[in-house]
Amino acid sequence: MTDVIVVGAGPAGSAAALLAARDGLDVVLLERGPFPGSKNAYGGVVYGRVLDEVLPNWWDEVPVQRWVTRRSTMVLTEGRALTVDFRSTDWGKAPYNGCTTFRADFDSWLAGKAVEAGAQLVTSTVATGLVVEGDRVVGVRTDRSDGDLRAPLVIAADGVKSFLAKEAVLLPRTQAKHLTLGVKEVLSLPREVIDERFGVRGNEGVDVEILGCTRGIPGGGFVYTNRDSISVGVVVSVEHLAAAKVRAEDLVADLKAHPAVAPWVEGADLKEYTAHLIPEGGYDHLPPLSTPGMLVTGDAAGLCLAAGIWLEGVNFAIGSGLEAGRHARRIIETRDEKPYRAALEETFVLQDHKRLRGAPGVVLSERVQQQYPGLIADLVQGLFTVTNPTAKPGVVKLLRAAAKNNGVKLRHLMTDGLRGGKVFR
Ligand SMILES: Cc1cc2nc3c(=O)[nH]c(=O)nc-3n(C[C@H](O)[C@H](O)[C@H](O)COP(=O)(O)OP(=O)(O)OC[C@H]3O[C@@H](n4cnc5c(N)ncnc54)[C@H](O)[C@@H]3O)c2cc1C
Repeated sequence: MTDVIVVGAGPAGSAAALLAARDGLDVVLLERGPFPGSKNAYGGVVYGRVLDEVLPNWWDEVPVQRWVTRRSTMVLTEGRALTVDFRSTDWGKAPYNGCTTFRADFDSWLAGKAVEAGAQLVTSTVATGLVVEGDRVVGVRTDRSDGDLRAPLVIAADGVKSFLAKEAVLLPRTQAKHLTLGVKEVLSLPREVIDERFGVRGNEGVDVEILGCTRGIPGGGFVYTNRDSISVGVVVSVEHLAAAKVRAEDLVADLKAHPAVAPWVEGADLKEYTAHLIPEGGYDHLPPLSTPGMLVTGDAAGLCLAAGIWLEGVNFAIGSGLEAGRHARRIIETRDEKPYRAALEETFVLQDHKRLRGAPGVVLSERVQQQYPGLIADLVQGLFTVTNPTAKPGVVKLLRAAAKNNGVKLRHLMTDGLRGGKVFR
């Protein structure tokens, strides 16, 4: 008799299956791909702190490409770039901060942990719908010849388009304004060339998040280093992309051609191209996270932060999956799903979403996306351009000129500064 059916062996599903199986429950983990991660696309960095408690010393086993020891934030305008670059030797040793890893490797590894704990992984199997009795979900329909599977608890971890959450009327029909589109190229380069170009050694790696590279379409870009390839991509608002009639792959081409990025990718061969949707509704637009007999986790529940300078989803998927798995037994016994949401409110998953609920509104605002990159570049260029024989202009004069040149009023700078301070406090 199956106790829990987990649909989707991405990070959320495997984390849920892991803890439910460790609790002695009979768990079936369904995955539509031939193996976990085979269908999954993302940028490239996993922040694994969330695993410390459940998989101690996970860093000794995780299929890492490189440990992120440099985190840069770049602001680009055509022909100019300002980079704030942080480097830490702490991040290059245990317990580490984040690593680049491929999803085929990472998802297979995490699903393997659930299997070791006793979960049964069933691949190449699509959950095609829910089995519902009265107001309760009591199982899923599958595309296998042996058909439906029944259990007192279903955990939907089926990603951003979650047909299961939609069928249970937890998710509305897909709304473009709450989605971003991520597109990514993996470009192969010899390992020593990457080390040289990015100033890293051994298994050190770089995470670069970029603003001002999307032709004013709300979003951002990224560059991550793998062992012998680099990942370059953009994440942009679906609604604005469609309105601008721009192709996402052209934005990636722009990014690769920018003088600050072109030397990194020169001579690289395209190895892989992927595109995937990302939920970006934020805390104020979270769907209900459960219905009788079913919990929703990870991207299926909209638990992702992808607002320009962050691109984190795997850690939130694992965090929410762990809570679903941890509470599975109690939920089955009491037929009360509420403890799941309550537990999530106590963890970083909903606390971060709550604290940063206003962040997308600031980072993706028209001024931050379209005017501030130019303003910042003008200001910095003014500061560092040697104007002899004319005396150096003061910062206030430069700021006024940069604001005027980019159509920004000083009062907007003040209100945006205050708003930013409030959101990120
Ligand atoms: C371009 C891009 C860049 C990103 N970069 C990062 C990054 O660098 N770091 C980061 O932390 N996050 C990043 N994210 C976000 C991250 O990928 C997601 O938040 C994360 O993958 C969510 O995990 P999940 O388990 O909820 O869903 P998913 O990873 O989407 O897994 C869902 C699983 O369910 C399976 N499935 C779906 N439907 C069914 C079905 N009906 N039956 C059976 N199986 C099914 C799928 O095959 C899949 O294995 C990025 C996303 C994109 C698109």
